[in-house]
Amino acid sequence: MVAGAKVEIEKRLAFITMEALLEQQRRYHEERERLTDAMTKEMLHSAKPGREQINSDHRLRHLLDRYQEGTTELKELYEDKDGLRKEEIQALSGPNEFAEFYSRLKGLRDFHRKHPNEISIPMSVEFDELAKARDNPSDEAQNLAEFADEEGYGKYLDLHECYEKYINLKGIEKVDYLTYMSTFDQLFEIPKDKKNAAYKEYLLFLLEYLEGYTQRVRPLLDIGDEMDNVKLEFEAQWTDGSFPGWPKEATGALAHTGAHLDLSAFSSWEELASLGLDRLKSALMALGVKCGGTLEERAIRLFSTKGKNLEDLDPALFAKSKPGRAGKSRDTERQREIGNLEAQVYRFAEVLSEQRSSTRDNVQRKQARTGEEREESDDEQYAESDSDNDDDDVPYNPKNLPLGWDGKPIPYWLYKLHGLNISYTCEICGNFTYKGPKAFQRHFAEWRHAHGMRCLGIPNTAHFANVTLIEDALALWSKIKSTKETDRWKSETEEEYEDTSGNVFNKKTYEDLKRQGLL
Ligand SMILES: [Zn+2]
Repeated sequence: MVAGAKVEIEKRLAFITMEALLEQQRRYHEERERLTDAMTKEMLHSAKPGREQINSDHRLRHLLDRYQEGTTELKELYEDKDGLRKEEIQALSGPNEFAEFYSRLKGLRDFHRKHPNEISIPMSVEFDELAKARDNPSDEAQNLAEFADEEGYGKYLDLHECYEKYINLKGIEKVDYLTYMSTFDQLFEIPKDKKNAAYKEYLLFLLEYLEGYTQRVRPLLDIGDEMDNVKLEFEAQWTDGSFPGWPKEATGALAHTGAHLDLSAFSSWEELASLGLDRLKSALMALGVKCGGTLEERAIRLFSTKGKNLEDLDPALFAKSKPGRAGKSRDTERQREIGNLEAQVYRFAEVLSEQRSSTRDNVQRKQARTGEEREESDDEQYAESDSDNDDDDVPYNPKNLPLGWDGKPIPYWLYKLHGLNISYTCEICGNFTYKGPKAFQRHFAEWRHAHGMRCLGIPNTAHFANVTLIEDALALWSKIKSTKETDRWKSETEEEYEDTSGNVFNKKTYEDLKRQGLL
């Protein structure tokens, strides 16, 4: 079949060389229209979530890419950089239009004399076949993306390799896979001084997996565009020091602490000295100049910089960190890179939020089973997915309701009941909005919320599920703290003592009785 297609392409190429540019343009236009039509049909073909949806997205992506290629070609033809199109139109519009016509006719005849029995296949045939393949996919067309067994064709994540890398990082809390699954995006929890080259390597590895997985599971998502946005957002957050896990004093403050002083108002160092030690120190620091010494020394040093550029100053004046400052800015650069990678992990964690929460459930379920049970249920899963493929009627869905587990739209009353038309705002997440209760419920365990809670100084435990207002969270936290206080173990009344005949007393009674010699 492949060989046949190749011969076909060669023939076409032979044809194209003699084909007029106008005809090429017409063909690209036709192709684009047919592609638009095919894409529309693909989108109207409501696929079941899971394998079918992913395959449908891949088909759509393929059509879209082809559309863009055709558009580029077409644009080049219209731009007509080599002037051939203009030439052709001139040849057709006279004065020798008849000679042109006969020479073209001759070309056509020659072609068919050389290739007798040549049948022209209209483009519609190809698209008809695409439509047929969609409705009755072959085995090959069922697996448009490659997934590992563990990934269940885009249902779950497989972070085992990333997990291996993670627990082998130095100085990092060792956790089990399930915990890792829930916390791998809480990178702000890791102390800054642990974020070294090995950590960066780990981030790159994790990102490579997440990106590859996202490409397979959501082929229509423009990851490049998404990452550009992440970068923009990150740069802004980094500059004002609000990026999670990298507070301001550690980054922006490295270059210059201290406050500049306008020296033009001072005519002698004695006047400067009147400002006092601390003010002089901060003015010197602002210039990056040595800031120690007595009041007099500081004032003289500062005054000597008056009216000069920093570069013209005696190098001996500069603080010892001057050579190191280049090192520091390299350090800042390195940290910024790591921060940027973290920002990307955060975004992927959001994009893959659903798969991640199913993975968590799946891992938990698997851990609770014996080996035999596991094998059995794996078989079941395959059987299930086989039977799924049999009925492929298109469900009627005018209200565009989400699809249920059976691939059919859920009833409207259920849609309302589940509140899927509602979005939720969480103040702890900086008034971030979540659509539908499922995403909202999930978010309490995710990085944005966890970070918000951390900023409030509250442990993100189950007590605080569903609390979205900062005020409520703080109130609940102080209440929990005070009940913990009263619940604390009191050995006086709660420690149990037993006498030789098996009677149980608390500590106080036991000691009282013992002192009286009654035991
Ligand atoms: Zn939240």
